[in-house]
Amino acid sequence: MADLSLFDLTGKNALVTGGAVGIGRGSAVALARAGADVAIADVNADAGEKTAEEIRSMRRQSLLVACDVTRRHQVQAMVRDVVEQFGRLDIAVNNAGIAILGADEEICQEDWDKVIAVNLTGTFLCAQAEARQMIRQTPVEGKIINIGSMSATIANCNASYDASKAGVVHMTKTLAAEWGRYNINVNCISPSYVLTPMHASTPMAVRQRIRELTPLGHVERPEDLHGAVIFLASAASDYVTGNDLMVDGGHTLNAWLTPLGRSVPPRVSPEEEIVQLKHDMDVLGFPYDAVGINPDVHPEIADAFKAAFGLKE
Ligand code: NDP
Repeated sequence: MADLSLFDLTGKNALVTGGAVGIGRGSAVALARAGADVAIADVNADAGEKTAEEIRSMRRQSLLVACDVTRRHQVQAMVRDVVEQFGRLDIAVNNAGIAILGADEEICQEDWDKVIAVNLTGTFLCAQAEARQMIRQTPVEGKIINIGSMSATIANCNASYDASKAGVVHMTKTLAAEWGRYNINVNCISPSYVLTPMHASTPMAVRQRIRELTPLGHVERPEDLHGAVIFLASAASDYVTGNDLMVDGGHTLNAWLTPLGRSVPPRVSPEEEIVQLKHDMDVLGFPYDAVGINPDVHPEIADAFKAAFGLKE
């Protein structure tokens, strides 16, 4: 018999940055379902409070901490607030991240700096503050999970995003090597294209192309990361550290010269792909656009997709 208690997070205290919507919210819900109390940290306090309320409705403790992960003092206060309410910090998912699309020959330094500040520096500041807390508490231990991206491995976005994520993956290895002595596991999860508000503007034609280029045949949803998050947060991964767990439906495996084809339908239908995205759009107060271009959420991403794929309004 499998020992499922390995995955039980009852009594554990967790923190998720960028936890209001998308992959962060999905991770928070997964941790809460596995038994943890979960704090939500986000720059979007209104949406973050709704997600904290959702966690409380699951009979878990939660709190919203308004925090910009690029600000060291806010990050330190975030960890302090969580520990004040929960008593200790066992699990941290460093998920807050942004993309600013654009051709690399045109991109301005301000945009480059912003992406590096949130994705790379922000992840480091969070990991450092969390580790300091985990080292202070008794017993000394913890699980830190950084959200990377397949963009750390393949060149699918632009230089600032891809480089920031490659930095996250390698930083994860260094921190894992350094903090193993404190029984702190540091791992990374690398998703592919996930239907979150960041990708709310992915047109339907692009989603179909992603399905065709993905062996498992559907576009990724935040729910598809639940298992990886619970594994890396739980005792099941006690001897796993410094890993980059690719959760991409096989997207990065294929050379893409021959069409993949399918023998049976994918496990998830196009309608099922967007269940959490619709919920997230609701949380943010935007209508879900069935055409797949939601200029209200990230207008710059909608414009970039339209330009890249020659799409009209
Ligand atoms: P979303 O943009 O959908 O959600 C991210 C959340 O983080 C938002 O609430 C956002 O607030 C918040 N946030 C942004 N900047 C900061 C900051 N400086 N401090 C605190 N919170 C912040 O993103 P996803 O859920 O799609 O992405 C989450 C992570 O997963 C990111 O690191 C991303 O790079 C990574 N990822 C995403 C993929 C995808 O396809 N969606 C694929 C691979 C990796 P606001 O919107 O108000 O800025």
